[in-house]
Amino acid sequence: MHTDVLLQVLRGADISKRLNYGHVDLVRLKEGGVDVQFFAIWPNPSLYGDGGMFKQSLRLIDRLNKIIADNPDKISLTRTPSEIEAVVEQGKIAACIGVEGGTAIENSLNKLKILYDRGVRYLGLTWNDSPDWASCAKDESSSEYTGNRGLTDFGKEVIRWMNKNGMIIDVSHSGEHTFWDVIKQSHKPIIASHSCTYKLCSHYRNLKDDQIKAIGKNKGVIFINFYPGYLMNGFNQRYYALRKSSQALMDSMKQVYGDDHLGYRSYRNRFLLENANDFRPDIELIVDHMDYIISLIGDDHVGLGSDFDGISIVPRGIDDVSKMPELTRVMLQRGYSTERIQKILGGNFMRVFREVSIQ
Ligand SMILES: [Zn+2]
Repeated sequence: MHTDVLLQVLRGADISKRLNYGHVDLVRLKEGGVDVQFFAIWPNPSLYGDGGMFKQSLRLIDRLNKIIADNPDKISLTRTPSEIEAVVEQGKIAACIGVEGGTAIENSLNKLKILYDRGVRYLGLTWNDSPDWASCAKDESSSEYTGNRGLTDFGKEVIRWMNKNGMIIDVSHSGEHTFWDVIKQSHKPIIASHSCTYKLCSHYRNLKDDQIKAIGKNKGVIFINFYPGYLMNGFNQRYYALRKSSQALMDSMKQVYGDDHLGYRSYRNRFLLENANDFRPDIELIVDHMDYIISLIGDDHVGLGSDFDGISIVPRGIDDVSKMPELTRVMLQRGYSTERIQKILGGNFMRVFREVSIQ
């Protein structure tokens, strides 16, 4: 449900080829048996926050469309459940678009509509920054935050617009106040496109039991994030310490690579992977979070979020998207039925998309 691979594209990656860095490209999607992929449109607020968020979102959509136009035999843009089915039937990858961060709409329903018309089918209401109309989890958990909590009247209008026009509401990154306002306001199922459970890892990004139960009642779905720092307690402390202790090395490698962002980043990520190997979690932990959600609300409400290429490190056993079948192996080992596995691998998403879509 969520890959940030377009950021790699911005740095110069050609994802039509098999890359030896990062997590996602068209070849590895195919190897991993991934038929449907949501590409996240994330305009970086520290670069575009001064009035350029909407424009940068359109630019990212253009970049995705260029990849699709250059690889017509491999991938197609899909905007409806039936388009997804038709493209998958042809053996191609169905590309869907999700926007991450409500700041992208710049307080305008008209801009939201333009994004919809360009193919966007989910909007993450917030990223780690709060638009004027909704508070994010990071801000809500900060004692310094002085803005609104929850949805403003305009925020509620955004929710009504999305319900009416067939756009899925994504609450990953949303604060609890925003979350509960959305639950009250939305009469369509919602998603958390890349989130884990607070019970197993007490990070502000994760969903608490009462939130998980509310998503169950709402008939929504939680798609698990693979970032070790959202999967296990204690990981981030060790990982941040590693990053801090290697800062001088990283600074010198930046000099070596110069403007080659990809070269530097792939060096950095390989270094971090090797040095965090003894304390990064195993793939089993991803399924532990699924198990926990299933124990609370059943298997109609779980799926795969990944956050590939938006995260700098992954659990052991799932180094990139080509390794997705390893997750199926773990689910089979735990005795999950074929029916349950099919729900998790896409059935639950398709049910929500059919319920929300107006086309
Ligand atoms: Zn995110």
